[in-house]
Amino acid sequence: MKLILLGPPGAGKGTQANYIKSKYNIVQLSTGDMLRTAVNSMSELGLKANEIMKSGGLVDDDIIISMIEERLSKSSDCQNGFILDGFPRTLKQAKALDIMLSKLNKSLDSVIHIKVEEDLLVRRISGRFTCDECGEGYNDYYKKTKIDGICDKCGNDSFIRRADDNEKTFSLRVRSYIEQTEPLIPFYDKKKLLKTIDGSLEFKEVKDSIDAILDKL
Ligand code: AMP
Repeated sequence: MKLILLGPPGAGKGTQANYIKSKYNIVQLSTGDMLRTAVNSMSELGLKANEIMKSGGLVDDDIIISMIEERLSKSSDCQNGFILDGFPRTLKQAKALDIMLSKLNKSLDSVIHIKVEEDLLVRRISGRFTCDECGEGYNDYYKKTKIDGICDKCGNDSFIRRADDNEKTFSLRVRSYIEQTEPLIPFYDKKKLLKTIDGSLEFKEVKDSIDAILDKL
């Protein structure tokens, strides 16, 4: 199964990808996670990407394309399938992905567009935090820890918030999404791959809509 999850920041792509990867035993390829790992390790790529990510802009297409190409072509874990989360984000990336996949004799099964209105995204983004130990996700508005300051899943007491999850950077990230990523919607619609679902619903309802799409593949 080869999928793209498309949607604005805060649409729930990461959360749903996490669910899909366990259910179908396929890998989640999140360019945002790959970049954050590079930033934390202070590699050359990380240093370059850090400022751009903090500003809410998009990292250079060529850097991102080679990062994904390397992952798709060299790693055996993608053989079973993959979910692209946060990639492609521009038409140039989408066209490069087509070329990459055709070289590998692969094709996409579906592009799931998780649609959410902007006012809801602000609350989702500015409230979100994750456990530093097990990565469980929480939100100040929607999903607090049962005991204040303690992770429900592993009992750890330290949490992280993404540096770019604040209202100022958020509006720039949404602008990047509208200007550079939304053109992918008609691009994949023309290829008859696009399925749009309502991402403003609760996790389980969104998950059910995704399952209904995936069950038909
Ligand atoms: P995400 O975790 O997907 O929200 O990504 C966090 C940030 O990483 C984005 O705001 C961009 O600065 C950068 N980024 C992630 N994926 C891409 C991509 N496909 N193209 C360009 N920049 C990206």
